[in-house]
Amino acid sequence: MSTESFDTSVLYVTLGCAKNEVDTDRMRSLLSAAGYGEATDAQSADVVIINTCSFLASATSESIETTLQLAEEVSDGIRNAPIVMCGCVPSRYGSDLPNELPEVAAFVRTDEEDGIVAVIDEVTGTVRSGTAMLPSIKRTVEGTVAYLKISDGCDRFCSFCAIPYIRGRYHSRSAASIFEEAKSLVAGGVRELVLIGQDTGIWGEDFDQTVEGPHTLAELLIELAEAVRPEPVWIRVLYLQPEGMTDELIATIRDTPEVLPYIDIPVQHCCERVLSAMNRSGSEEELEALFARLRREIPDMVIRTTYLTAFPGETEDEVDAMLDFMDRVGFDYTSVFPYSPEEGTRACEMPDQIDEATKVERTQRAIDLAESLGFAATASHVGETSLVIVDGVEEGEDGPELIGHAWFQAPDCDGAVHLDITDATVGDVLNVRFVDSFCYELVGEVVE
Ligand code: SF4
Repeated sequence: MSTESFDTSVLYVTLGCAKNEVDTDRMRSLLSAAGYGEATDAQSADVVIINTCSFLASATSESIETTLQLAEEVSDGIRNAPIVMCGCVPSRYGSDLPNELPEVAAFVRTDEEDGIVAVIDEVTGTVRSGTAMLPSIKRTVEGTVAYLKISDGCDRFCSFCAIPYIRGRYHSRSAASIFEEAKSLVAGGVRELVLIGQDTGIWGEDFDQTVEGPHTLAELLIELAEAVRPEPVWIRVLYLQPEGMTDELIATIRDTPEVLPYIDIPVQHCCERVLSAMNRSGSEEELEALFARLRREIPDMVIRTTYLTAFPGETEDEVDAMLDFMDRVGFDYTSVFPYSPEEGTRACEMPDQIDEATKVERTQRAIDLAESLGFAATASHVGETSLVIVDGVEEGEDGPELIGHAWFQAPDCDGAVHLDITDATVGDVLNVRFVDSFCYELVGEVVE
């Protein structure tokens, strides 16, 4: 491998979800191995990489606005750095972009990102003698939690969603590379591995089933827990579709100590007619039975979901049914997103699109209920004692305070624990009694 070192620095700007952070980390690792340094701002950078999001129209707009803002910043800088746009916007709008965005020197789709070194060499005029190889992963989020991508793409083609067109068909990452990355992350001090992908529950279904090795998410979780032992690591799974909750997976979550009894199943809706129009399966009865079973069979089960409000044709009765369903299931955490017509999706062409005022009103009703359920779920932990991972320091009303998260709080999603001490270190795991709560936050006292 040629690891040349030269004085060329890259600024990385990542928009969107945790999956994009993982992709940026991969590009950063490749470029670092190829000899590129890292810049801290656009004005001093030699090249700027912006990893974009295009999940919703608003995310696409934000990606383009940020790119134009970076273009202004680099033109004021000392090097007038070229900008390279990566990720979902090039994947989705590929051939239209060079004409629309002359400020950008190169566009890199998600499936081309492993070739980032050649692209950056070209835009910076770098000539090298060898080929850079992928080194161990460098993480964007230095600290206690790491996102571990186990798959990419999606085969479900929900009618509102552009992801399958952006990220391509579903493909599982190999177990060996997942274990290798997990071990290196844990050796580097990571305390929690958050498994992500567009559809984590079907991990391994696309493998040759005659070849030895884990073939299901449940098998992967069991072997991953074994791979990281004896370190006391928490393993959390996000983005499971209801069909992915097999008997085997339920038993694995219940019986594997490292795997948290926390599940994220974005149902989007409960009404069969709406689900069918969304190209999703299931019914209210089936979903309710699934959540009841999870709560019955897995002690202390915490459930997160998502409600996509104002899907085309959604009636007031269907809104009421969904809100009743949320209330009956008693979700601990619910993300609420208003439907947004995405170019190229089937839902975009559907009749009975909901007007903006109604969309806002339905979304607010859902948020109000989500908050009342979520705040109550958070408050229910007051009086409990639990382990808390220390994540960092935040500026509180009375000065800096330590912040951490408990097992029932997904990092960056579900609120945090505010601690009464200041002398712990990031990565410490403390025994904490929760003495108060506000909104999704808990106040904790460290106990021996
Ligand atoms: S499951 Fe549906 S919503 Fe999720 S990424 Fe796939 S197509 Fe999109």
